[in-house]
Amino acid sequence: MTKTKKILIGIFTPIIVCILAFVGAVSGILITRHFKVNQNDFSALSGAATKTVLFIGDGMGENHIKATGAYYEKDMFVQSFAIKGEISTFSTKLFRPTDSAAAGSALSTGKKYNNGEIARHDGKDIETLGEYAKGLGLGVAIVTTDSLSGATPASFSAHASYRKHSDDIIKSQLKSNIDLFVGAGYSQYMGYQSNINDSGYALLNDLSLEATSQKLIYAFDDIVPENGTSSAPSLDIMTEFALDYMEANFPNGYFVMIEGAHIDKRSHNNDIMGMVKWLNNFDKSIEIAHSKLSVLNNTAIVVTADHETGGLNYKNQSKDKINNSLFSRPGHSSRNVPYYVYLNTEKEIDKKSVFKKTLDNTDISKIVRSLITAK
Ligand SMILES: [Zn+2]
Repeated sequence: MTKTKKILIGIFTPIIVCILAFVGAVSGILITRHFKVNQNDFSALSGAATKTVLFIGDGMGENHIKATGAYYEKDMFVQSFAIKGEISTFSTKLFRPTDSAAAGSALSTGKKYNNGEIARHDGKDIETLGEYAKGLGLGVAIVTTDSLSGATPASFSAHASYRKHSDDIIKSQLKSNIDLFVGAGYSQYMGYQSNINDSGYALLNDLSLEATSQKLIYAFDDIVPENGTSSAPSLDIMTEFALDYMEANFPNGYFVMIEGAHIDKRSHNNDIMGMVKWLNNFDKSIEIAHSKLSVLNNTAIVVTADHETGGLNYKNQSKDKINNSLFSRPGHSSRNVPYYVYLNTEKEIDKKSVFKKTLDNTDISKIVRSLITAK
């Protein structure tokens, strides 16, 4: 062998080995991810809770809950739920965290998405939890502190190729037959007044206004973190209103999605005082739902997040150490997020075998679908 050949082999062999190792690692990640999805069976939950409420804390990692508890020097209510674990949140994007559209769509439909997609993958619409529950004859309500056309509420009530296509999202929502929408975006939805009337909805901007239609959109220009009013509500007030409305109008069963959107928004700003305030009210809303559902038969509350925001670090610091420096990034992270389940059912269920410690976000859709589907 010539000297040049030896040198070439010496240079290229390590490069080729590196390339092969990289390809191996990437396919390893893809295969591992693939096996995490569609592996769990939730049929044991069938019909266990014909009244189910799904809470989504946007951007809410486990440390967000712990830091809020430390700030208020209390245990958060959601931490009292007996069933708990964590979910993976990845979208089809390999080395980037999910966004709220892909994650919301996974929670709603049980499939994986490209970032930005709203219950529509590669041009094909996939059945949302809202559509599924309506198909069962249940009442459906969507509640959020975000605009009602935001990625999370949209994932449960609409189909669109991209989260910013709010015109498509709103028109899709008006065809959804969802019974009740409560959230921000009054001025935006005012622009659709004639479409709203044509589709049989009524648009109202105060919770004290009487229903004038069977399908309702309560939208507000202002939603506040706490101490809200009927015209500028906080999430606890919207939750109480929506659950009372559903119980009065759909006593045989309903599915309600309730989103705390500002946990994400404040975490993007690395604003911890803002974050804990919104999360505390989110937790209060869960407590209100629990007080209403625990006295009824066959009810469930599922609490989770779409992804973690801010890379929040927390290691048992006390209240005086809760500050903005606990955040480590301005965007979303790929960390797993917690899930909690409260289940109040007559059905015998081996909870340990059904609710594994680590699930995937697509499993949440399957859990809710099983809970609300009578056998
Ligand atoms: Zn975000």
